[in-house]
Order: sequence, then C-alpha cells, then structure tokens
Amino acid sequence: MRPESLMMSYGYDPSLSEGAIKCPIFQTSTFVFSSAKEGKRFFQLAYGISAPEENEQLGLIYSRINNPDLEILENRLSLWDKAEDCAVFESGMSAISTAMLEFLSPGDTLLYSRPVYGGTDHFINNFLKKMNIDSIGFYPGETKHEIIERINASGKKDKLKMIHIETPANPTNALIDIEMCAEIKRHFEGENGEIILSVDNTYMGPIWQHPLKHGADLVLYSATKYIGGHSDVIAGACLGSKATMLRVKGLRTFLGNMAGPWNGWLLMRSLETLKVRMEQQAKNAFEVAKFLQSHSKVEFVYYLGFIHETGSSEEISIFERQFTSGGAMISFDIIGGEEQAFTFLDSLKLIKLAVSLGGTESLAEHPQTMTHADVPFADKERMNITDKLVRLSIGVENYEDLIADISQALDKV
Ligand SMILES: *Cc1c(COP(=O)(O)O)cnc(C)c1O
Repeated sequence: MRPESLMMSYGYDPSLSEGAIKCPIFQTSTFVFSSAKEGKRFFQLAYGISAPEENEQLGLIYSRINNPDLEILENRLSLWDKAEDCAVFESGMSAISTAMLEFLSPGDTLLYSRPVYGGTDHFINNFLKKMNIDSIGFYPGETKHEIIERINASGKKDKLKMIHIETPANPTNALIDIEMCAEIKRHFEGENGEIILSVDNTYMGPIWQHPLKHGADLVLYSATKYIGGHSDVIAGACLGSKATMLRVKGLRTFLGNMAGPWNGWLLMRSLETLKVRMEQQAKNAFEVAKFLQSHSKVEFVYYLGFIHETGSSEEISIFERQFTSGGAMISFDIIGGEEQAFTFLDSLKLIKLAVSLGGTESLAEHPQTMTHADVPFADKERMNITDKLVRLSIGVENYEDLIADISQALDKV
C-alpha cells in the first residue's frame, strides 16, 4: 500500500492498548521489565553488546532510548522516503547537529551548499569551527568539476568526511543536483574512507523529493514545517540505512535530544493529513504565483512551478529528476526595496507576518532582515537575498482569499 493509506494504522496494534483506535500518549519515563533476564537482554541490544537474533527487536527500556509514540512515528515516517530507519528529534537543528557531530571529528572537513538554513550555517561556521572542523561552501550552478577543483585546491581533500546540501534552498528555491553530489562523494571516497551525503529535505519532503534514491545517505527534516504542519510543534527527523541510523540513534541516546512522547503523538496525528495538506498547499501556491507573476508591482517570482519558463536547462534537468511538484514556497522581488516590502508585509490581513513555513496558515516574511539577517552581505547579494525579496509560505486557505489579500496589500505599496 501507499504511505498515505498506512499513516492511520501502520506499526500500531490496538489490542496492545485496550482496543484504542489511536495510539495513546505513552507519557512515561521508564518501562517495567517482565524479568531481570529480559532487562539484561534489552540492555545488551541497546548498547550493542550483542547483536539481535533474526526478527528480535529492542524492547522498551527508558524513554530517552525508546518510546512507543516515537517508534511508531519513526516507522511511519520511514515509509515516505523508503528509508530503513528513522530517528525523531526535539528540533530540526538537533537532527542536523547530531548527524554532523556523529560523522565529523576534529580535523575533518565538511562540504556544504550555500545558502543553507541560518541555524545550520551558524552551527557550521561557529560551533564546528570551534571543534576544529573546517568547511568549504559551494553555490547552486557550480559544476562538479569546479567543486572538485575547489576541494583539491583547499589542501584538505583527504579530510573530506561529509557533504551537506539543502535543495531547494531557502529562500530563493535554488536547486542543487543530489546525484552530482553523490558523484563528488564517490570521487573522494576511495582515499578518504566513507563520506556521508546528507540532504536537508524540509522544503519538499517527504512528499515531493526523496533524496535517498538519488544517492544520499541521510535525509534531514525540520518536522516543525510540513511534517508537523500546524505551527504548533518544534521537531526534527533524520532517516537513512540501518547501519547509518544506528550511529545517529546512538549519539541521540547520549545527547538526550530525542522528541518526547507528546510531540511524537502530535506528529503522528499530523502525518495522517500530510499528503492532502501538501497537495492543497501546492495547488494554492500555483494560483498565487500566477497572480504575482502578472502583477505590475512584482519584478520577479522565484517559484519552481515556473522553472520551465524561467530556469536554465541544468535547472530544468535537476527539477525533472528530483521533484514531483513545484512546492508551496514562493519568493518574489517587489519593485522597490525594503520600504515597499515592509509596506506590503504590514498591509497583509489574512496572511500572517511570521517566519517558519509549511503550516496550514500562510505566512510572509522578509529574508534579508529576518531569517537571513546574519548571513554576510556579499553572500546574500550572490544568492539574490536583497531588500526587495519577500518570502511566502502558502497554506491551505482558499486561494482566492489569499490572492485578494496579496492584491490589497500590493495596492498599498
Ligand atoms: C526550520 C528549518 C530548520 C531548523 O529546524 P527547527 O525545527 O527550527 O530546529 C532546518 N532546515 C530548514 C530548511 C528549515 O526550514
């Protein structure tokens, strides 16, 4: 069956919970062992002291290690990306930082695409740097040859241990070719041992892009965004093969940054409507983007649904291989600058002025002074993050109401 058919029931047996149709919230810190021998065995498995027998599963021990709300959620979340395993975290940043800390050691080098999410950028350029982990950035549009040359010229090519990319990139929907990054990984892997390729799939996943099938080792999410989808929970997720996730889950156990049972339950509830929400959001975004495209006060619309008209042949090729939708994130350049952008934002009535994205309600913000405030100015120029750029996250409202709101706000400019 398809994932959307399984989101209501997969991995949950009502007979284990008094017949409750829905998985209860297992608000408990610890679990009772049926015998001392069982407790011993569970710990052997949890700490990797011995390997599981055929079909043997890790029993419930303690909610920092496992909890039914998290395990069932992780099983369901794995279905969309066809991943072998998943770990859910207390935030998107904890998923990203835990993965990087597990696969990078002092002296190693990280290659990453720019722009990445502001929090990720900060973690790479401040905390990892402090840990003596170096990084090399590259931009959308750079070729495999150029990136390999950059790594060779850095003098650190034998230290490359991880590649982290975000595509489409926030806030301009710039595209990165996952298969190209997998080729770069293989190019250096012979000499360096394993290199991990991770993809932050928050913008398009888990419905419209599946990085594992293009050669990624890890998929990362801010589950705060589309997966949670109601702007009422902060959470994150990391997915990959059993062996890779064993390491990620191992570090999660000792950092203690797993999601709690209540957030796990909220996300399970959200997964039931994930596909219908995202499909409606994408339909609305298409209508809103068309309206913006034709408006005299709008200079340019960054929206993947128009890639066939506005993109280069490389971009069209990446889009066709990686994405099954134009998504529901739109940015646009308003004619003018900060003053015009702010007048527009302050005049919106239905659409709320807030950062974050992917929720049921539509949101608008100004990347240059808000989400991307601490990105160096020269980098922002290069990435088209200027004073005239406005970012919209389109929700599930009636699109005619959204367009009417945008129209009246543009009239005030
Ligand atoms: C929001 C976001 C994050 C961080 O997630 P949190 O849940 O806020 O910690 C990471 N990557 C992207 C692309 C995001 O949009």
